[in-house]
Amino acid sequence: MADPRGFLNHTERELPDRRPVDLRLMDWKEVYTEFDKGHLKTQASRCMDCGIPFCHNGCPLGNLIPEWNDLVYKDRWRDGIERLHATNNFPEFTGRLCPAPCEASCVLGINQPAVTIKQVEVELIENAFDEGWVAPVMPTVKTGKNVAVIGSGPAGLAAAQQLTRAGHGVTVFERADRIGGLLRYGIPEFKMEKRFIDRRLEQMRIEGTEFRTNVNVGVDVTVDELREDFDAVVLAVGSTIGRDLPIPGRELDGIHQAMEFLPQANRVQHGDTVPGQIVATGKKVIIIGGGDTGADCLGTSLRQGAESVHQFEIMPRPPMERAGSTPWPTYPLMYRVSSAHEEGGDRVFSVNTEEFVGENGKVTALKAHEVTMVGGRFEKVEGSDFTLEADLVLLAMGFVGPEREDLLDKLGVGYGDRGVIARDGDFASTVPGVFVAGDAGRGQSLIVWAIAEGRAAAAGVDKFLEGHTVLPVPIYPTQVAQR
Ligand SMILES: Cc1cc2nc3c(=O)[nH]c(=O)nc-3n(C[C@H](O)[C@H](O)[C@H](O)COP(=O)(O)OP(=O)(O)OC[C@H]3O[C@@H](n4cnc5c(N)ncnc54)[C@H](O)[C@@H]3O)c2cc1C
Ligand code: SF4
Repeated sequence: MADPRGFLNHTERELPDRRPVDLRLMDWKEVYTEFDKGHLKTQASRCMDCGIPFCHNGCPLGNLIPEWNDLVYKDRWRDGIERLHATNNFPEFTGRLCPAPCEASCVLGINQPAVTIKQVEVELIENAFDEGWVAPVMPTVKTGKNVAVIGSGPAGLAAAQQLTRAGHGVTVFERADRIGGLLRYGIPEFKMEKRFIDRRLEQMRIEGTEFRTNVNVGVDVTVDELREDFDAVVLAVGSTIGRDLPIPGRELDGIHQAMEFLPQANRVQHGDTVPGQIVATGKKVIIIGGGDTGADCLGTSLRQGAESVHQFEIMPRPPMERAGSTPWPTYPLMYRVSSAHEEGGDRVFSVNTEEFVGENGKVTALKAHEVTMVGGRFEKVEGSDFTLEADLVLLAMGFVGPEREDLLDKLGVGYGDRGVIARDGDFASTVPGVFVAGDAGRGQSLIVWAIAEGRAAAAGVDKFLEGHTVLPVPIYPTQVAQR
């Protein structure tokens, strides 16, 4: 333990400042300013080395948090990044984008603000890149076996990096024109600049992972070709079918899924021209869905110059403090203000949309009413009907599962009860030699889970091909998969 009195001497939790709203709305760069290393060390010293670090369980990767807090405090940054990379292939993604369930289970968090674990994580990896310590890890053996990883989101990338390092020939297939999955085309630039994906891909290419973009597996490469050319397959195809809102007027122009809108904005940040781009510029925007995807639509709409933005959520507004139903060390239900919410727009809770209204085939408004929860069901609040003008409606209500037709059904994989691909404790699907990782098997989730599952699936593939594996397996995802 670095400083036995750290948590007593430094009771304040400090985080980097966000850039002023007026300024950050003028560009697409990340919203946070740099964080001073001295402050970071002070924050790391607040870690109590509490004996039973609940943060380990809170983190799906089992990140060795107290160890690297201690190493940062002692200025042993190189050892720190080694401990971090031992459990996490891509701390630059989680350090920016993870909702940090580890912090929700931090023991200090029982009666003080939790340790700033996620900030220490991102600073460790950024410092390591700056110092040139993130070198390719070349495989020491070649197994002669080939693995196809389908999908290049965080699950596919983690599986590919682990399998390449274990000596297998790994090809990542991606149907989009660039690698990264939702990291690339879902998450906006202001949450994570895409150069951080490219920097990591450079390392993976040198290590030997091959990437093939613009290949829709199941269409451009048939299932027979896939099985013939590869000894094993990892399905990391995500959960890409957006939940729809089949109410009257849904067919009107101007109503789009969030994942029709966000990828186009991301493409423009890459310098692409998007003919007929869906933009919020000068429009009255209504986002249906109060979660992170909705918040990303909000920040994007504001940067594009929307006239107004409302974000609707059917659930009631959560409490300001941790709800009694989610006690420590669980992830708390509570009201959160993301950087996008700070930038503008109106959040409307307990609201249900019942009809889209239009003129000449284009949406002009929606009709909605307030709801209350009675016995776990939503009930309309009589007399609460209202109409709100809209010329762009974005549906951000989550995802219902992976697409089946072109690839999954042809492969013959089985499905679980929530429409996801069924898998066992080794992340194997019902088809021998075909494994699954990330949202495709778990359902819509988080980057940290996708990386954890990619690592676990890689160990499952290695065991399948070699009869044993030395690849580490995050324990928690395996337990969850077995359930
Ligand atoms: C807008 C948005 C914002 C989010 N923000 C956050 C956040 O801030 N923090 C967080 O932790 N999580 C966030 N998430 C969730 C997170 O992005 C996902 O949980 C994670 O990306 C899942 O990773 P994955 O690798 O399983 O799938 P994905 O990232 O979805 O990648 C799947 C890839 O497979 C490809 N693919 C599918 N079928 C084929 C095929 N037949 N052939 C070739 N390629 C194929 C797809 O094109 C895609 O690139 C967000 C999600 C969305 C939609
Ligand atoms: S990956 Fe997420 S849960 Fe794990 S240590 Fe980092 S911020 Fe915490």
